[in-house]
This record gives sequence, structure tokens and C-alpha cells, in this order.
Amino acid sequence: MAESLPRFPLATKVTALRGVGPVYAEALEAAGIQTLKDLLWALPHRYVDRGSLQKIGELDFRPDPGDREIVTVLGTIQDLRQSTTRVQRMSLTEALITDGTGTLRLVWFNQPYVGKLFRAGDRVLVFGPLASGRHGLEMRGPAFELMGRGGDEDNLWVRRYLPLYRKLGPVMGRARQRMVQEALARAADPEEWLPAELARGVPGTLAALRLLHQPPDDSDPAELDAHATPAHQRLASEELFAFALGVTLRRAGRMARRGQAVPTTPELRERLKDYLPFRLTAAQRQAFREIVADLTSGRVMHRLLQGDVGSGKTLVAFLAMAMVAETGCQAALLVPTEVLARQHAATIQRLLKESAGGMVLLLGPMKTAEKRQALARIASGEASYIIGTHALFQEAVSFSRLQLVVVDEQHRFGVRQREALKQKGLDPHWLVMSATPIPRSLALALFGDLEQSVLDELPPGRQPITTRLLDPADAERAWELVRRELEAGHQAFVVSPAIDPQDEGKVPLRDIQAMEALLRALFPDFELAVVHGRLKADAMAERMEAFVAGRARILLATTVIEVGVDVANATVMVVDHAERFGLSQLHQLRGRVGRGEARSHFLMLSASDTERLRVLVETQDGFRIAQKDLELRGPGEFFGTRQAGLPQFQAADLVRDRQLLNLCREAADRAVQRGLSEPQTVWLKQEQARLKLAEIS
Ligand code: ADP
Ligand code: MG
Repeated sequence: MAESLPRFPLATKVTALRGVGPVYAEALEAAGIQTLKDLLWALPHRYVDRGSLQKIGELDFRPDPGDREIVTVLGTIQDLRQSTTRVQRMSLTEALITDGTGTLRLVWFNQPYVGKLFRAGDRVLVFGPLASGRHGLEMRGPAFELMGRGGDEDNLWVRRYLPLYRKLGPVMGRARQRMVQEALARAADPEEWLPAELARGVPGTLAALRLLHQPPDDSDPAELDAHATPAHQRLASEELFAFALGVTLRRAGRMARRGQAVPTTPELRERLKDYLPFRLTAAQRQAFREIVADLTSGRVMHRLLQGDVGSGKTLVAFLAMAMVAETGCQAALLVPTEVLARQHAATIQRLLKESAGGMVLLLGPMKTAEKRQALARIASGEASYIIGTHALFQEAVSFSRLQLVVVDEQHRFGVRQREALKQKGLDPHWLVMSATPIPRSLALALFGDLEQSVLDELPPGRQPITTRLLDPADAERAWELVRRELEAGHQAFVVSPAIDPQDEGKVPLRDIQAMEALLRALFPDFELAVVHGRLKADAMAERMEAFVAGRARILLATTVIEVGVDVANATVMVVDHAERFGLSQLHQLRGRVGRGEARSHFLMLSASDTERLRVLVETQDGFRIAQKDLELRGPGEFFGTRQAGLPQFQAADLVRDRQLLNLCREAADRAVQRGLSEPQTVWLKQEQARLKLAEIS
């Protein structure tokens, strides 16, 4: 039937499908799905192998908690009940399901929305570990998939594999599957756009989509789960090649642009040397040489400065700024938080000594008069070192001769800022510093439109930081160490995880208030400053200042201190609930100590996840830790995808498909040199939004 209908190009709006009315269209759009292509690229996140489905009557409970297998059951809801537990006042949702062979009780605590999704008579697919409750077998907090209402037979179950999708608002279960089926039946196969070297041995686009949305019965379940089929490879190649083309084109575009060449003279270099409080490390010298070469080249610099925490990126950035400032132009340093902006301002002030008058700090919440003055000094050119947060990009800011922007922590800034400057007719040089080292191979592929400098050496005289992982039962040992350091005149950090109220009740967590009480009881003689994300900016600044100046001896903080705080007298850090942090994040935190001459200590308190945390005990190499972290958490979590402006790949995985990414990068280089084909241009245009092709790095 569908065969005789005209076929739709993939760029067709989903509303062209019969199953998509205004309500669904709106829900789909809210989830970023507008075209058939968007819909079809939203691949199943897993498959249920009908062979693994179990009958309720045949389930048996294994009392050994180490041996709990996840079971999958399909049943119809018979009874549904919503109540509140008497003892802890938790909301309780109970459902009874049957599949004709028996009944199974499902319970959810504190997830009242679950009850609202279901009605008696609904068919649900549930997955979870079995437990033995008062009423016999039950599943607590199972994952589920609503399969549809009413009793009509489900032809999807004619197939062995049932695809499961991430939720798109109300578009669930069968409605979603029907939509996808219709899209598959109606979509036209696009013209081949992959270069031959990538298209070899993989199915065509539409065939690949079909294979993944409706896997044939003879598919290998392990391959499907591992995303290791040729169909996955086709789609991953398409995503990565489009991504690589975007990066390559941007770089080519920039290389063709003329930039402002910064003049240098031997005198200028001598003057820069005068600012330096210490000898540069060889790596710092090399990185600065590379920056100078860029700045004087007549092209626009886009350089990524990578280096482990404590490798001295700030000093390199300062030198680049000074080079520009000393020739009468302006350099801006863009920082993610106010705390950090103030700190960088203080550092630069120190470096500039009597020339510090040329520096200005611009923050969002400044007093009007103060801000007006700052803006005036930027506009007149009186300020040549400009330090600030996002506030730097407000319309009110008018630069007189902006030539360089340094971005500390590249992940939170990107093209939007660049665009804001372009609106003002500015096309400055860019130096982005990454706070988290990125494994080299990945960085090359991801930030291929940025030149890279790497600081692979720490300044001399650093003592390795002693790192220990302690069971909370042994916390006393951590506090003893803290006491010793405090009594020796040093300062201490204590880090508490930021706790989402949703988490409470599930796992016993010590929040920052409880930690504060504990620290006050343990160390009554030492002043304590407490900072967290909900603090007002001036309170935050005041408390940080107290710690930086040494008045407060202990700083208790959530991860607001993660990036950049530089207090050389702090020699010990205790991280509570270390299991709640990513490895790179912990490494970053660790970099807050060990900045002075004295031996420093990093202590993690955790009762779980100790194998992962041990990586930090074993190595202090940030690049290795980042690699491990990436493997464990995946790139989305690692980069904080949203902030990074990285695309949400559907088929590709930046870690698993590293090799493919490199192939795509090489292919993209060749394709751009050759000139893009018509289908390539069309494809790229379609993918611009979904893959955020203009927004990377
Ligand atoms: P990061 O790369 O983590 O941003 P910073 O720029 O904050 O590192 O530098 C870490 C510390 O090392 C700072 O206290 C800084 O003053 C110091 N430092 C930087 N370069 C050198 C150097 N060449 N010799 C000695 N100390 C240095
Ligand atoms: Mg830094």
C-alpha cells in the first residue's frame, strides 16, 4: 500500500505523516523533532528480545542479593492504587499486573507521576529485579514502557525484537512505533553523500534505519546492544562525517579571513619578561611561542591551550594579553564565574604591579555607578586588560580596540559569544583554555578547527599530593590530618556534594548543613567559611575573599570551587561522598591543593564506588584520568554536552567510535579540498541544527 504513495524526502515535516496531528506535532517539536529525519534518527535506546520475556507464573525469586537478575515481563494492569506510607510519609504507587499465568505486584516509592501514567487495562512492559514482599513476588521501582491501551493484538510482537525509545512527552509506546513505521514506509532514500571510503561495506541510509528500528529476527542481540552492526556504522559515519565537515569548513573559513597582526619588537618582549614572577617552564615557553606566531601571522588565532590542573595556563594567557595590551590594544579574559573573575583580576593586578591601572573588572551584578565607570574605561580604551564574566557580551559593552579574547574553561563559551562580538564588528583572536584535559586523540578530532598547545609539564618544586580513599567509618583519620595542617598554620578545603532534593530519602547523604555543623563541632577554634551555588554574589565574594586572605582557615564548599581557586596555603582537601563526583572533577578539585611548597593531602570519603575512585590514588596525570572518566561516563556526562555545545549524537559515540571519527576527519579534509558534492551540501544544511554544526568549540 505504502509503496504506491509518493515518497517523502527526509527533510519533510513529520506532520506529513498520518499519525501526527497537532498534539503530537507539538510534543515532537518540543523534543526537537520536526522532520522525518529527526524522527528516524531518534533510534531505539534498547531492544527487548522476545526470547528473553518471562512469564509471571515462571518467575522465581533468588534470595541472594548479589545474584539478582533483571527480568522482563509484559502484562496488563488489573489494579492501581495510590497511597502514602504511614511511617515515613512517602507516596506509594502500587500496580498489579497479570499476563494470564500469574500476577505480579509493582511498587514505586515517591514517584507519584507513575500512577498518573497508568490506567487499568493498560499493557505495560516492566523490567527490574525481583523482590520478595509481604504479598509474594514484587518488583520495586521497575523501569517500564507503556505498550498501549485496550486489548488489541499487537503486531509488533510478531517480530523478535521490540524497539524501545526514549520518551517524547506523550508520544509513547505503540503510537511512537506506528509513527516510525509509517515514516520508514514513506521516506525516500537519500542520494549517497558519504565518500566511497566511508560508504564501503555498510547499508544505505534508509536500509540502515530500517535495520535499527525493526531489527530482523536473525540479528545478533549482543551486536544490537553494543551498537556494533553495519547499520550502526552507516549512521554513525553519517553523523561523524557531517560533524567533521562542519569543523573542517569552519577552520577553512577562518584561515581565509584576515586577522589583525600584532606587531612585536624585542623591546616588547623584554617588557613582558619584566612582568614574570618566575621562570617559565619549557612547556609554557613553547605554548607562548606558538601564540606569538599566531598573533603575528595576519590570520585570526583560534587556539586551544590544554594543560593539566596547575600547569600554569593563567600565566601563558596573561602573556598573550600583555602582548596585545602593550601595543595599545585591548585583551579580554572571559571567566565562567564571578569568584574566578575576581581571582584572575587579583592575579593580573599582582603581575602588572604599577601598570595595574590598565585593568578593569566587569561583572553582571555591579553597582550602577561602578559599572558605568567600567564601561566608560572599556569604551575609551583606557582599560587594556578587561576581565569579566558573560557580562562582557552585553550590548552595553563597547570596546575601543579589542584584539584578543581569552576564554578560561572553553566548555561554557562558544559561538554565541563569538556571534555577539561579530555583531559589533569585532573579529578578535581567541585563546581558549580547557580546565579539564581532554585526551589528545579526541581533542584533535573534536577541536580540529582549533590549533592546540599543550602544557605537559608542571612548574618545578611541586610536591606530589598524597591521595587517600577512606571509608567514612575512618573519617576521624581525615579530620586528624586536617587538624594537624590547621595547627601548622595552613588552610583546608572541605567539599560537600550539591544534593538534589529528589535524591534525599533514597540514599543517606550528608548535606552541606550537616557538614557545617560537624566542622564547627570538630574545629571550633578555626574560622570557617561556607560557600555554595545558592549564595548571593556579594556574600560569595566576601566569604571567598576571607579564605583567600587567610582569615577563614577552612572553606566548606560545594563544587563552586572546582575551577581555578588558587590559595597556596591550602594544604589539605577532604571530599565527602566522593562517589558523587566524576573522576576529572575530583582531579580538578585535587588541583586546588599542592600549589605551594608544603606537602599537600587529598582525602576522599566514600563507602562505595571505590574501584573507580582508586584511579585517583594511582595517578596524578590528568590526561589519563580524563580518558578513564570518558570511558566510564561517556562523552555526554564528561563534557556536559549541553554546555559544551557538542552535538547529541544518536548513533555515534565519541569514545567508542574514536577511530571512525578519525577516519571521518581525514575524509572531511579530502572532501573540503575537493569541494563538496551537491548531496553533501544538502545534507550538511539539513544537519546544521541537529548536529549543532555551527556551535562546536
Ligand atoms: P592552571 O593551569 O590550573 O590554570 P595556574 O595558572 O592557576 O594553573 O597555575 C598554578 C600555580 O602555578 C599558580 O600558583 C601559578 O602562580 C604557579 N605557576 C605558574 N607558572 C609557574 C612557573 N613557571 N613557575 C612556578 N610557578 C608557576
Ligand atoms: Mg586555571
